[in-house]
Amino acid sequence: MTSLDSILYEVAKPARYTGGEWNSIVKAWDKTPIKAALSYPDVYEIGMSNMAVPILYDLLNRQPDVVAERVYAPWPDMEAAMREKGMPLFSLESKRPIRDFDILGFSLGYELTYTNVLNMLDLAHIPVLSAERDESSPLVIAGGTCVLNPEPMADFIDVFLIGDGEEIILELIDAFREQRAGRKIPRSQMLRRLAAIPGCYVPAFYEVSYRPDGMIDSITPSVPEAKPSISRRIIAKLPTPVTNPVVPFLETVHDRGAIEIQRGCSHGCRFCQAGMIYRPVRERSAEVLLRQTEALIRSTGYGELSLTSLSTGDYSCIQPLVSEIMSNYETERIGVSLPSLRIDSFDVKLAEEVQKVRKSGLTFAPEAGTQRLRDVINKGVTEENLLEAAEAAFRAGWSSIKLYFMIGLPTEEQADLDGIVALAKKVIAMGNKLGRRSIKLTVSTSSFVPKSHTPFQWEPQEGQSSLELKQKYLREKLRDKRIKYSYHDVHTSFLEAVFAKGDRRIADVLEWAFKAGCRFDGWSEHFRYDVWLEGFEALGIDPHFYASRSLDYDDVLPWDHLESSVTKRFLIEEHHRALQGKLTLDCRFADCTGCGVCPGRGVQIELKG
Ligand code: SF4
Repeated sequence: MTSLDSILYEVAKPARYTGGEWNSIVKAWDKTPIKAALSYPDVYEIGMSNMAVPILYDLLNRQPDVVAERVYAPWPDMEAAMREKGMPLFSLESKRPIRDFDILGFSLGYELTYTNVLNMLDLAHIPVLSAERDESSPLVIAGGTCVLNPEPMADFIDVFLIGDGEEIILELIDAFREQRAGRKIPRSQMLRRLAAIPGCYVPAFYEVSYRPDGMIDSITPSVPEAKPSISRRIIAKLPTPVTNPVVPFLETVHDRGAIEIQRGCSHGCRFCQAGMIYRPVRERSAEVLLRQTEALIRSTGYGELSLTSLSTGDYSCIQPLVSEIMSNYETERIGVSLPSLRIDSFDVKLAEEVQKVRKSGLTFAPEAGTQRLRDVINKGVTEENLLEAAEAAFRAGWSSIKLYFMIGLPTEEQADLDGIVALAKKVIAMGNKLGRRSIKLTVSTSSFVPKSHTPFQWEPQEGQSSLELKQKYLREKLRDKRIKYSYHDVHTSFLEAVFAKGDRRIADVLEWAFKAGCRFDGWSEHFRYDVWLEGFEALGIDPHFYASRSLDYDDVLPWDHLESSVTKRFLIEEHHRALQGKLTLDCRFADCTGCGVCPGRGVQIELKG
């Protein structure tokens, strides 16, 4: 019996660690010179639902000289068993120690997974601090939305990949090929070689100086290969989507086949980082998607298919695509789920089409309770849009609907909270009018977190006690047996804001919290806010300095040396327009609004319909 087998008897859900799933790829270790381990740093069920890892897993394994394997964060019971038995972190495919790989790549999509990264490095017996790694350590890289402000993780990651990863990862692999071709490059030189690749950010090659008031004075490269400013990589043409993803043995969060139908969104919601940093919109053609859908279904056996994108309902061929998929697979009873439908693009036909086979959940995101605040955030939907969508949904047979809002948005007033309550009651009334029995309405609120590279990056986050009072108010006003009110913990949102707007000085707190046992901070049962506060206190760092202050347009921001491609001038203009309650139109349906991506990067919007 191997030691892994003996550990698996002791832990919950051992299938998280066994590998061997359908479509997983095991290559001959000794015959494949370049080894990469890929991770989303959360538990298996969450990690397997991440969209970036399968893309890179597929892409890298297509290279004959590269093996890519997966690794996720061991749940605390597994971590305890591994530490007790001295077992290092291992990959799911070959069960090799992660330390034996050349590259360890993390997809960072949520700030509260950062301590998991540190813990995984430690479990892998890789020095947590980048500066302490030597020739025997893998190169630790990271990509994903969070790396548009990577500074809190600057001490722990060797290279950040900024932007679409498909091209940049292959250029990074080329550097390893050169090394394997006989020219052994010392680690420091390899980092300099990587710093010269567009979109690669090596934080160790940048010096940050601070003003007496604590603000950043300058961020300066210290070697010639490091550029003063790093532009996000954008691929003009999307490659074919992955059709043979690994099929998990246990239920994951998104337990269905997923096809990315488009990348980018130009609606321009002013709080939304993804909407700013993934521009321009690039659609895949319906013909390609239908072909890939067939391949995906045949290679996975999934009974449900998700058409993913930031705003699925805006895909220009959504109606014919859904109709075709539904009719192709009607006899096999394969359902379609459409995540992230916008209220204004939702139509009765689409709802009925999807519901033919299986009723999946329906969520609308008005984001704010009044038209005034929806205009501030550039949501561009009206109450009429919402009520029409709700009517269509009730008529098509739904009886449960979820409405998603944010509280603490810039300029929010009491009337905006009352607007949330009023909208919820109007939706219930609409259901009653249409004779729907047993209506279930979930109203969910999260707290606004200002994010880098958005028009609201200069805004503070509202105080926690004030947000808690707002939650209490809504809880009371929404007391109704047909309404369920759910809300996010304000402390979690606060920490998210600290890291979203933080600089590299808070890396010390991250390391402190990890050593104090913080893990899985995004999980309420594991989040230890008191320990975090203790860490900030012990290190003399004020978290409010990052989360709760307004910033000036001429302040040097921690992420100013990283260009998302939307210009700062555009973000400032959008911030002004927000405060004036002025809408900015979507450039797919109106003129270019001058965000700067297309002319600046030689790319353009690609619509297929
Ligand atoms: S540059 Fe113009 S067309 Fe291109 S994404 Fe920005 S607003 Fe849209």
